[in-house]
Amino acid sequence: MTATSHALTGAFIATVIRQPILAISLSFLSHFICDALPHLGIKMKFGDRAMKWWLAIDGTLVVFFAVSLIMLNVENPVLLAVCGFAAMSPDLFWLYHGLKGRSPESYGPFTRFHAAIQKYESVPGLAVDVIWSLSAFLLIVKLQ
Ligand SMILES: [Zn+2]
Repeated sequence: MTATSHALTGAFIATVIRQPILAISLSFLSHFICDALPHLGIKMKFGDRAMKWWLAIDGTLVVFFAVSLIMLNVENPVLLAVCGFAAMSPDLFWLYHGLKGRSPESYGPFTRFHAAIQKYESVPGLAVDVIWSLSAFLLIVKLQ
């Protein structure tokens, strides 16, 4: 899923579960459930122009939703932010592998698992990401 979808999922979990350790743990685990669902997937080579554009767009959306939630005076914005980061954090392994120039053949068991669960990635999966993100955002606002 997009970083936006992961972050809003974590923020939603923090809205519903206000016990920090549990909320952070569930947010981290949510990453793998979300990645196993149909979602946006575009074949990009690490470091290419398309990837940089995508990261800029997705990162801008994460900041937009975070600022929107803060401006809407959500309760406990720090826990929402930490859970949002926890939910996005497993994708930092892709950055690590990309910066190291590692190929899929050299991935460890965790990254092979993370790659294997992405089998429902597709361009039309963007619709799932959009609906998922907007639903999570609206639920966070409604549950305040
Ligand atoms: Zn992932």
